[in-house]
Order: sequence, then C-alpha cells, then structure tokens
Amino acid sequence: MTETSQPNAPKAAPAGGSRATMKKELPERFKSYRHVWVFIEIERGQVHPVSFELLGEGRKLADKLGVELAAVVLGPPGGVEEAVAECFAYGADLAYLIADPLLANYRNEPFSRGLTSLVDTYQPEILLLGATNLGRDLAGSVATTLLTGLTADCTELDVDADASLAATRPTFGGSLLCTIYTLNYRPQMATVRPRVMPMPERQHKPIGRVVTHPLGLVEDDIVTKILGFLPDRDTNKANLAYADIVVAGGLGLGAAENFQLIKALAHALGGDYGCSRPVVQKGWMPAERQIGQTGKTIRPKLYIAAGISGAIQHRVGVEGADLIVAINTDRSAPIFDFAHVGIVADAVRLLPALTDAVTRRFSPHTRDRLAG
Ligand SMILES: Cc1cc2nc3c(=O)[nH]c(=O)nc-3n(C[C@H](O)[C@H](O)[C@H](O)COP(=O)(O)OP(=O)(O)OC[C@H]3O[C@@H](n4cnc5c(N)ncnc54)[C@H](O)[C@@H]3O)c2cc1C
Repeated sequence: MTETSQPNAPKAAPAGGSRATMKKELPERFKSYRHVWVFIEIERGQVHPVSFELLGEGRKLADKLGVELAAVVLGPPGGVEEAVAECFAYGADLAYLIADPLLANYRNEPFSRGLTSLVDTYQPEILLLGATNLGRDLAGSVATTLLTGLTADCTELDVDADASLAATRPTFGGSLLCTIYTLNYRPQMATVRPRVMPMPERQHKPIGRVVTHPLGLVEDDIVTKILGFLPDRDTNKANLAYADIVVAGGLGLGAAENFQLIKALAHALGGDYGCSRPVVQKGWMPAERQIGQTGKTIRPKLYIAAGISGAIQHRVGVEGADLIVAINTDRSAPIFDFAHVGIVADAVRLLPALTDAVTRRFSPHTRDRLAG
C-alpha cells in the first residue's frame, strides 16, 4: 500500500504527484480480479442507505473501468429478496447472494466467512463497504483475512490511469488529504461514511442476474451467540445524517442553555439539530450531535450554522448541503467563505426572532413540505 498527500482543500484534487513515478507490478495471482462490488448492509430487514450511496459511487468506478457492478447481499432466506431487488434499482448489474438462517443477525464470524468466500471464488478488484459500526467491523476482519489493503472513511474514490483505485481520505487531523493505493493486493477495499456520497436516483429496473453461494457453516461453528435484541429506546436519538433541515450551534453561542435556541429553531422548521466539536467537548451537547470530520456528515437541503467558525474539520461534514446559512458576529469568519447566505449578527439574539418568524409564517403543512 502506498500514499500521496496534499493540503486539505475543500474538495480533494485528483490523485497524482509522486504516484506517477511509483512502480506497480500486480502479482500474477491477482491479475484475474475484476469488477466492482458493494457490500449491502441490512439492518432489521432494511437496507442501510449508505449501501445505495455506494452503489451510485460504484457505478461510476465500474463504468470508468468498463466492468460490472455487483451488489453483495448476505442475510436470512425470506429477508433478503427485497434488498436484492432494490440493488438493481440503484444501479447494480448483478448480485451475489448468500441466504442462510445463520445470517439473520449480524455476527462477525459468519459474515466475514461468507464475504471472504465470495471474494476468493469470484475475485472482485474493488470492494466497498459503508463506514457504519457493522461495516467497519466487517471490513477490518475481511481485509485482514484476505491480507489486502483497506482505506477507511474515504471522502473521494476514483480510478487512475492504470486502473488502480485512488481512495482519498483526510489525514493528520484533517489538515491533509491523502490518496491511498493498494498496488500489490486485491481486492482494493474502502469504507465510506453515510452521506459522504450523494444518493443516486432510484430507477425502475427489473431484477437481473443473481448468483447464489453457500455459507458453508453450521451454528456450532460460530462462537458468538445472539441471546436477545434490545432495540434502542432513545426516541430522541439524532438522525442528523439523513435530516433535510439541520440547525447547529458552535462555541459562539457561549453557554449550554443557549442550545435551547438551536433546538427551538430546528423544531419550528421540522428539522434536526447538531453542534461543532468543542461544544461536545464542553459537555453542552452529546457526541451523537457532533457534525464534521470526526462527527456526522450531513447533506440537508438547508443547513443553518450559528456561532460556528467554519474550521475545515467542520466544513468537510457540511459542504454537501444544498443551502448553507451562517450566522456569525465576525464578518471574516471562515464559514462565510463557503456559506451561501451569510448573516453578520449575534446568534443568541437572532435565533429567537428567526424561530418566531418561522412559527408565524409557516403552517405545519408547509413545514412538512419543507422537511420532505
Ligand atoms: C482531528 C480533529 C478533528 C476535528 N473534528 C471536528 C468535527 O468533527 N467537527 C467540528 O466541528 N470540529 C472539529 N474539530 C475542531 C475544529 O478544528 C474547530 O476547532 C471547531 O470546529 C471550532 O468550533 P466552533 O466553530 O464552534 O468554535 P470557534 O472556532 O471558537 O468559533 C466560534 C465562532 O462563533 C463566533 N461567535 C462568537 N460569538 C458569537 C455570537 N454571539 N453570535 C454568532 N457568532 C458568534 C465567532 O466569531 C467564531 O467564528 C476537529 C479538530 C481536530 C484537530
């Protein structure tokens, strides 16, 4: 594995630099590896949206390479058919399916075994997974079992002139972007966090080719046992990554109690709320509300940032928003470099007025339409 790095620009520049001079000799045994695969994560019968985002990205890579895009689905019989159909609607050319009752709930052992067995048999050149809790766990064990390279939390994927995967991710605390190559091993593996890639458009496509494969395990082979499932009871849990409207506050709000102003405006708009990292570090908001490089990536239709300076580590988590409105007392704050609408004002005074205006102006019906 090797890497090149560049200063952290808002969008990664194409890979290049010293890469051009690197000698690449792919060992003979990997020369037959072809096609792009996306692991499809299924949570309680539902496909995690990051899998569709990765199918969109995988489609671009497969088209550049002139190869097929495959969805890889592992789950219990009767619980995966809908997921397989959806993968074709989001761009897959074919699907590899392991349907086995042992895959009813995620356990590292059977999922790793199933995925590595598929890779060994059908030999993909690129394998993408979501950087979710499940995806991170699975990707690490599959990469170490296959002795191949894995680039985690990528922000950009591309193929370079000699058809290698160029996987770009932040490094050194986000101050640099580095592009990492897996030159001598296959498959080239990468994980991407939810919402980093755009959601492709769903198309009306019939189910295509499905290749079924056995798991080859019995329950006694698996050390981990599922004794029960406790659903998360916290109904207030953040769904920031997929919210259409997000209001967030930073250190500029000055005190924990001022975050009520953020919540009130988010509520009036029918959206969700978040914050910058120092706000979490001060204990003013829980970690699940943090937006940015080490928090959540968001892609809302509207993002309102109040009292947030717009540091690069925050910016990378929000720049996919359609409309960014920034409220800051300092007219030279970096957030004004990328906000679409900038308001130089004291957020603590402006937020209640905005909430009041939104509440008076929009009926619940209009708010639903905005949020939808
Ligand atoms: C490895 C690493 C990872 C990181 N990950 C993240 C991350 O995921 N997310 C993240 O957010 N940060 C992250 N950071 C921290 C990041 O570098 C910044 O320090 C942080 O984003 C700054 O938070 P802030 O804008 O709330 O605070 P500050 O930088 O202190 O900015 C406060 C802003 O509020 C303005 N202000 C002050 N009073 C008011 C007022 N009354 N009304 C309106 N505006 C006002 C000020 O002008 C200023 O611009 C990371 C840093 C590192 C090193």
